[in-house]
Amino acid sequence: MLNIAVYAKGGIIYLCPAFGIKRKDGKRCMMERVITLVDKLAGSRMLSGEEFIFLLDNIGEEEDAYLYGKARESALANYGNKIYVRGLMEFTNYCKNDCYYCGIRRSNQKASRYRLSPEQIMECCRIGYGLGFRTFVLQGGEDPWFTDEKIAYLVERIKKQYPDCAVTLSVGEKGYDTYKRWFDAGADRYLLRHETANPCHYASLHPPQMSSEYRKECLHNLKAIGYQTGCGIMAGSPYQTTAHIAQDLEFIHGLQPEMVGIGPFIPHHDTPFKDRPAGTLRQTLLLLAIVRLMLPDVLLPATTALGTIEPDGREQGVMAGANVVMPNLSPLEVRKKYMLYDNKISTGVEAAANIKELKNRMASIGYEVVTDRGDHKKIKSSPCP
Ligand code: SAM
Repeated sequence: MLNIAVYAKGGIIYLCPAFGIKRKDGKRCMMERVITLVDKLAGSRMLSGEEFIFLLDNIGEEEDAYLYGKARESALANYGNKIYVRGLMEFTNYCKNDCYYCGIRRSNQKASRYRLSPEQIMECCRIGYGLGFRTFVLQGGEDPWFTDEKIAYLVERIKKQYPDCAVTLSVGEKGYDTYKRWFDAGADRYLLRHETANPCHYASLHPPQMSSEYRKECLHNLKAIGYQTGCGIMAGSPYQTTAHIAQDLEFIHGLQPEMVGIGPFIPHHDTPFKDRPAGTLRQTLLLLAIVRLMLPDVLLPATTALGTIEPDGREQGVMAGANVVMPNLSPLEVRKKYMLYDNKISTGVEAAANIKELKNRMASIGYEVVTDRGDHKKIKSSPCP
């Protein structure tokens, strides 16, 4: 049997050898296959593991624009040119975990630790509400001082004072009952990056006490309870391969999260990964675009880490399909202490107080920052509140 595949693009027909067979005009065939896979992903919303690996390994800069354009079209079709903002409150940098990549890991003795009081948190909300934020994100290390009860109290207090706002929690791994308690207290969303779906890769990023199985179980529990749930990974994390990323994409597809957080890994000088190279802007943009095509109505942030590795990283993220930005609402005096990685930006356009500049920057690429809870499309269209 003749081992060829036929591609027709722009009126030209290419006869290319099937997967894995090299020939002289291989580059053109590669390009055609990449474009075909992007089209397939845009149409059917999923690729096989092998196809994802092929796409990730072979996409060349010539095809990036095509992928980003498709992803952007998909975001526009689902959310228009709206950019949702979240007011991020990094309320504690104490953490009982010891993730090898993270600047606030337990073993980092040099980290200067802090906790915000409930009053400080409420003051951040007050300022944020005035600036137009309608989602407050409480993110922190896994800090046992903040008991389940204290978190429930915070959620209740914020929801009581700002009933038109959504509350997102991002405080790590907890049991079903705790997640349920916080949901009943009024929490709407939960961010918990799975970090990597591959157990072996997970073990190379975390100490043995932590497991990818438990983290995934947490995510399934969050979904089952009814949270708008966010998983995600760092692009270019140490030891990451395209096969791992293919597994991540399969996991994400299976979970069907409402949010996906993807930002580049950036080393922190006081962690075991201090000498590892950072993930790149391009790796991150490719993943954002692929996730957008896989989950067309997902809420997809252009992250702080993306803005850290490139001054216009977040604009580029939006041009690759992102539709959420999470400016920092934490008090200025603690912002530098939530240092997950080196040079993390916390002032300038990253600061919630500078929302005007963010609006201008998004307007310059044709997008509008809106005052809106910015729920997932399916939640919004639900007949029940
Ligand atoms: N404790 C919560 C948790 O585990 O989900 C939330 C805080 S945790 C610091 C938030 C996210 O920061 C992690 O999921 C991780 O992906 C990201 N992060 C930590 N260190 C990073 C680094 N060096 N580079 C990029 N992202 C990093």
